[in-house]
Amino acid sequence: MQALQVWKTIGQAQAGCAALKQAGKRIGVVPTMGALHDGHLSLVRGSLAQCDATVVTIFVNPTQFGPGEDLSRYPQTWDQDLAALSELGVDAVFAPTVEEMYADGTTFVEPPAISKPLEGVHRPGHFRGVATIVLKLFHAVPADAAYFGQKDYQQAMVVSRMVQDLNCPIEMNVLPIVRDADGLALSSRNAYLTPADRQRALALHQTLRDAKNRIEQGCRDGEEISEGMLSSLSDCVDSVEYALLADPATLDPISAFPKTISAVIGLIAVYVGKTRLIDNEIIHVPS
Ligand code: AMP
Repeated sequence: MQALQVWKTIGQAQAGCAALKQAGKRIGVVPTMGALHDGHLSLVRGSLAQCDATVVTIFVNPTQFGPGEDLSRYPQTWDQDLAALSELGVDAVFAPTVEEMYADGTTFVEPPAISKPLEGVHRPGHFRGVATIVLKLFHAVPADAAYFGQKDYQQAMVVSRMVQDLNCPIEMNVLPIVRDADGLALSSRNAYLTPADRQRALALHQTLRDAKNRIEQGCRDGEEISEGMLSSLSDCVDSVEYALLADPATLDPISAFPKTISAVIGLIAVYVGKTRLIDNEIIHVPS
């Protein structure tokens, strides 16, 4: 196995990828903000399984954080991250500085319409930052395939749409959510939770399970299910930004289920203490 390379500059990353391509390798890229957990590593494994070379990017992107968000305290676990990636057999990590990625740049990507609801309402400017950094990372690491998590469902939709609209020559892959044994979706932000808050955070997955059960039992009143999600979450967490059933293709809220719909998505964003958590589940609708 080759040693893990660490690229700090865009020039190193582009030269490194050119060399891999020259050697006939299909490259997979996994964009992350570090503080890696098994969710991230499942994307890495996906890339390792489907590509000849895997590059993981680690960059805490300031332009996707709003004022008052957790940019300055975002967890960083560089040594553990490198050890885990090296152990898996990743080829390279691209970990640029903020100055390297942005210099004094003033060009941004205007994200697609699917960025407007949900996260777009509660984190204005977030997807402009996400779309911009992902495009810049794709230029720095010109891979053949990219791996994102369903955990950030709307983000994956925004990036997929950008890839289509801006003709990015990259194949998008969106892989399932990895959860702890008790159902909590893995997130770097779980590190902020006290044991008591972590217990309360189990309400997210439980609420999605309850919505799923109701649908499987035949309920087709989307509004009623969404109201149930909201009220059961409100009992457990400190505030609910959104909790609803939506159309997985458009993110439009579902009231009455259209006859032809085969799946809906439950989407949640809440605060537990000062920690913002999101979760979602695609629920197949029995015909
Ligand atoms: P982040 O470091 O939070 O920006 O996440 C980097 C990538 O990992 C994104 O594509 C996320 O959707 C994905 N990801 C984060 N948490 C999970 C998880 N629990 N399961 C699967 N993918 C995840």
